[in-house]
Amino acid sequence: MSFYVTTPIYYVNAAPHLGHAYSMIAADVLARHMRQRGEDVFFLTGTDEHGEPVALAAEREGLTPRELVDRNAPRFKDLAPKLNISNDFFIRTSDPEHMAKVQEVLARVHENGHVYEGVYEGWYCPRCADFKTEAEAGEDHLCPIHRTALVREKEDNYFFRLSAFQDDLLELLDEQPDFVMPKHRYNEARTFIESGLQDVSLTRSTFTWGVPVPWDPDHVFYVWFDALLNYYTALSYAKPGEDLTDRFWPPQFHVIGKDILKFHTVFWPAMLMAAGLPLPRHVFVHGFLLMRDSGEDAELLKMSKSMGNVLDPFQIVEDFGADALRYYCMRDVSFGQDGEVSTARFAVLYESELANDFGNLASRTIAMVHRYRGGTVPPAEPDPDLAAEIDAVVADVSELLDRADLTGALDAIWQRVRRLNRYVEEQAPWVLARDDARAADLDRVLASLIGGLRVVAVVLHPWIPATVERLLGALDAPELALEGARTQAGRLGRIAKLEPLFPKPQLDPVA
Ligand SMILES: [Zn+2]
Repeated sequence: MSFYVTTPIYYVNAAPHLGHAYSMIAADVLARHMRQRGEDVFFLTGTDEHGEPVALAAEREGLTPRELVDRNAPRFKDLAPKLNISNDFFIRTSDPEHMAKVQEVLARVHENGHVYEGVYEGWYCPRCADFKTEAEAGEDHLCPIHRTALVREKEDNYFFRLSAFQDDLLELLDEQPDFVMPKHRYNEARTFIESGLQDVSLTRSTFTWGVPVPWDPDHVFYVWFDALLNYYTALSYAKPGEDLTDRFWPPQFHVIGKDILKFHTVFWPAMLMAAGLPLPRHVFVHGFLLMRDSGEDAELLKMSKSMGNVLDPFQIVEDFGADALRYYCMRDVSFGQDGEVSTARFAVLYESELANDFGNLASRTIAMVHRYRGGTVPPAEPDPDLAAEIDAVVADVSELLDRADLTGALDAIWQRVRRLNRYVEEQAPWVLARDDARAADLDRVLASLIGGLRVVAVVLHPWIPATVERLLGALDAPELALEGARTQAGRLGRIAKLEPLFPKPQLDPVA
């Protein structure tokens, strides 16, 4: 089976922040997990580079738009490797291949009779690159997102007949209740459609930084349609000499933030219907990670104090590694909901879960094999009850990730991490080691622990890939396929020693 997952493409004028990292990490977990299941995976991210705000920003800086986007796009392209993101391609909407394909698809929409010429007049926010309804503009005509003055714009446009797709979109939501996930976002999309759809501008004619309209070169396509089509166009040129469209289209998951819900759950499926293209299977809408500006309480750990109050993802990656950030983002706020994040909570989870629960489990298990069995895992049958409980995590995680429940899946894994820690306490290998008559029991306990640790590490790989690879390297068992993730006798032989997986970082002393 093929599995195609996308992030939003990032607006090239923005400075990368936690929100960008968040959607990249989420999509990466899904992509990595599906590869472990043996699926044929394609994972796309990239930058959104056209539109009036980019043209205006370039003008202010005395650059051409091309110079501006060439300067800014690497900020996002370089973010992916910093976060250990396994994207297969990075699309830039200024790529000529993308632009040609946008023209081809939208010409088809035009030929299919879903486009007409008219005059648009309305309230426009240059920063959103979006027109606002009278209700959104309100009496003071401010952008509800930016709180800046809206501009009254009037221009000759081509319109996309969105209103004609109202019934088709409602039918889609009836037939595919998981087209938009989670449920409260589905309801939001449904309410928007039911409130009545108006036709939308497909083109702009007051500036030129965009994809030229093939049937009228005085116009460029409205940046949202150009941007949305990245998901489709990328497949046609991501791999030199091969068109991947038939292999991967349609996507299994578009991962997006709640601020772009309307475009992805209304405009986008309507546009695909108009072009006669198959629709994506799911649009998963995640929430926002919220930060208080200041005022953390006195319980701040020393570690978090030196990091300041605002959670800076780049500082975390520098001090603790990408895995710590990846774990925290998926763990502390249920994926799909809004939630608060802070350096204090990061510090708590880093220490209690990554360093203590998981890091210590790995360290002490490996240390005991070295202390009691000279570094060779005894080929004993694992404890069957424990093995059954641990091995069930594979099916649990697969089932949860089919619904993109990234936090639930992490919780299912953590229950097993804690189960293994309890098993150490219950079995007390240090007591068994004192009694030669109980050597077989000690063999069984050590084989169970190491076998269980391996299974847990394998399923955890999508969240903290670099750490897991280090651990599996020490176990001399680098395979990541979920098929082989079972607690089995004789699975492991000689193992190496292991430095702490999540050491206390060396931070600058608190001033
Ligand atoms: Zn705005």
